[in-house]
Amino acid sequence: MVASGLPRIRALDPIVVSQIAAGEVVERPASVLRELLDNALDAGATRIEVEVEQGGIERICVADDGCGIAGDDLPLALASHATSKLSSANDLETIATMGFRGEALASIASIAQVELRSVPRGSGAGAIIRSHGGRVDKIEPWLGTSGTRVEVKHLFYNAPVRRRFLKSPAAEMAHFNEVLTRFALAIGALPAEIRPHILLRQGRKTLMDLPGSLESMDRVERLFGPEVAHQLHAIDRSRDGMRLRGLVADPACDRGTARMQYLFVNGRHVKDRSLQHAITEAYRGLMMVGRHPVAFLFLDVPPGEVDVNVHPAKSEVRFHQPQAIHQLIFGAIKDRLRREELVPPLRPATEFRFDPPAPVQRSLPISPPPMAPRSIRDRHSHEAGGAESLPTVHDSWPIERPRQDTPNIAPPRNDSQGNPKVAAPQVFQELAAASSGDSPRMLQIYDSYLVVESSDGLMVIDQHALHERILFEQIKKRLTVGAIPAQRLLLPEVVELTGEQRALIEEWSEALRELGMEVEAMGATAMAITAYPGILGQRSPGQLLMQVVDHLVKRQRPPSREALLHDIMSLMACHSAVRAREPLTQEQMAALLEQRHLAQDTHHCPHGRPTALVFSKHDLERQFGRT
Ligand code: ADP
Ligand code: MG
Repeated sequence: MVASGLPRIRALDPIVVSQIAAGEVVERPASVLRELLDNALDAGATRIEVEVEQGGIERICVADDGCGIAGDDLPLALASHATSKLSSANDLETIATMGFRGEALASIASIAQVELRSVPRGSGAGAIIRSHGGRVDKIEPWLGTSGTRVEVKHLFYNAPVRRRFLKSPAAEMAHFNEVLTRFALAIGALPAEIRPHILLRQGRKTLMDLPGSLESMDRVERLFGPEVAHQLHAIDRSRDGMRLRGLVADPACDRGTARMQYLFVNGRHVKDRSLQHAITEAYRGLMMVGRHPVAFLFLDVPPGEVDVNVHPAKSEVRFHQPQAIHQLIFGAIKDRLRREELVPPLRPATEFRFDPPAPVQRSLPISPPPMAPRSIRDRHSHEAGGAESLPTVHDSWPIERPRQDTPNIAPPRNDSQGNPKVAAPQVFQELAAASSGDSPRMLQIYDSYLVVESSDGLMVIDQHALHERILFEQIKKRLTVGAIPAQRLLLPEVVELTGEQRALIEEWSEALRELGMEVEAMGATAMAITAYPGILGQRSPGQLLMQVVDHLVKRQRPPSREALLHDIMSLMACHSAVRAREPLTQEQMAALLEQRHLAQDTHHCPHGRPTALVFSKHDLERQFGRT
């Protein structure tokens, strides 16, 4: 006997099942388009015409000239788990069509008004069927040219909550276009004979018209314009039954996001972190940090190597040999970029060890002054500018060069002359003065970069970026053991401020004091800087204070103390560091390089730009054909 009130178990109405499935398959008009395009392609269409209204919210229509559907099968096409593409679970392993779940049309029909008409190829007579929220009318005859036409109207008309989650027609149109773009790109990788002509219409306007004959490069040009298309290089590499084809853009054609990386696996657009990672790695060092390459890649793998059954929208895949695929992509792109020689083989000096050359007899006594900006400024007052500084650099080069046959072996890291300082970060300040004189050969170019020789190759250092990083690290380090020592100014520097600016400075004066900067109110609107961080030299304290003020004013919310200290520290470092276009003496360069070992993360300046690039000796020899 069943106790009254106990919930009874019932099978769900098939329409409800479809509506639940629709939650996974159909998120927005663009997802409907995607399914209809896949079906048209699976049907062997040579022409696909898409019509859209209101970003697809009100109407999407996809008409093809494919194989068509037999009249009797029309209700089945709209029924869930009905498909012509899969008959046994074994087929799942080797599926080659775009769709196979047999739930797309059923899902769409359950949350929209659908009209499906089809004329099978070779027969003049077809049929039409209409469905409202999954309730199907009877089949009626239809005469027309062969092919299938699916019209989807009023998406989510019977699911008000989901309808409310739709964005504006313009935003939905952007998604819609993205899906069509991916499709049009994927088509480009098919054999020319089976590429359908694609058209998109909105009202009377034709928004897209891509004949099937267009090759990938022309498609990219039509879709993204000549700027991108003219910077592309084709790749094609096969390995272990896998094939990677596509177009990769010159590093100069970089973007702020990875959205222009289009990846297709067996003709299917995918978003896959590990594949994107392989691309990023191939461009490493050819691009600024935070920029992304443009690429259109088509990967074909044996169906058994990839599981496309992971995600209902089929945008995620799983590979059985992810490493091999990573390597294929990485290697193919990297080699292509190299082969073109379109890219200087310079890369950020992340793993590059910078070793002094074998010890040589110095021709000049070396005792570099501390790397204080003060000394640089002073030097400017008695030294002429860039043009004359180069001979000075040459003069101070060791006369006795290392012999040509000097083996390319770096001195041992524990070399008593060379490197005992490496492991001793506490000697930040004393370092420059204690320079061992073991500086490698180097040269300043454009008064902005240092070119340094080492046993592994040559390094180009951005003098400002490196010095900025070093100063930042020094300040940070000092701060961990207490306030930064302040140096009293003989003549306090007076700065005029607005009331708001002054209030902000007063509010944060304690934090400034910790960083070695002391200020006092003067009169109604001015403030006097009475002390300045000793380690920074004294490059215009007033200007630095104004930068700090600007920063405080710009911040929307009151900053946390840590965030503010960090920001002021990087302002200080940037402000005080040697600038680009400042000539340096050999000693100053040497001091800068020595401190390079001591900063904890010298690879990037505080803004994330690289501080150094390397050109390895190996690359050099390769380019000259010596290896
Ligand atoms: P699936 O594509 O996963 O099989 P769908 O729900 O998308 O499932 O489609 C169900 C079936 O309807 C397909 O298997 C196919 O037989 C038929 N069909 C759908 N669209 C078309 C079309 N444009 N041309 C020919 N047949 C189609
Ligand atoms: Mg389908």
